[in-house]
Amino acid sequence: MRIIGLTGGIGSGKSTVAERLRQKGAFVVDADKVAREIVEPGQPTLAELAGAFDGILTTDGSLDRAELARQAFATPEATDTLNSITHPRIRARTSELFREAEAAGHDVVVYDMPLLIENGEVDTVDTVLVVDAPDDLRVRRLVESRGLDEDDVRRRLAAQVDRETRLAAADVVLDNSGDLESLVAQVDAFWEGR
Ligand code: ADP
Repeated sequence: MRIIGLTGGIGSGKSTVAERLRQKGAFVVDADKVAREIVEPGQPTLAELAGAFDGILTTDGSLDRAELARQAFATPEATDTLNSITHPRIRARTSELFREAEAAGHDVVVYDMPLLIENGEVDTVDTVLVVDAPDDLRVRRLVESRGLDEDDVRRRLAAQVDRETRLAAADVVLDNSGDLESLVAQVDAFWEGR
């Protein structure tokens, strides 16, 4: 089974592409969703985190994300602690989902991963599929259609790899500088020619 790593900067249209691929019948593994699921109440990862960081559980036993982020990003050592607890669990769950896709008879699986390049995971996939659009257009779409704050969007954009680096890592690029119809047509052509 071939793994297609789907990535793109914030506001590039990556979620739109993932949704279209789902509609076309693709098995999509959502990395953000996996990261959220492993810290749900009752999951061993949450207990481990609560052992390593103080006061990160709310009164109902769920994760106080803001408090965890405050502590975990305060020092490089704390960030390492966070990653050493969460990364192996994320990898294990992701691999499990890949096996599920294979067992269900899929010849490809789409791994939807915003930080594929930032996290050095390019070599773990067979094809890097990048959704691309100019920075200013991405900012405008997020501000206009999602009502996000422009300064906040620009800060988040600056924390990711730049457009050139992402494009250099791409095997296939979906150009989302046009309208949604054009994007969907490119996704369909990619999927049919996979
Ligand atoms: P990402 O997952 O990469 O952050 P989304 O797919 O959520 O991006 O797209 C960001 C926003 O821009 C969404 O509100 C989406 O509907 C809108 N959008 C995406 N592509 C286009 C396009 N080609 N034309 C107009 N709006 C778009």
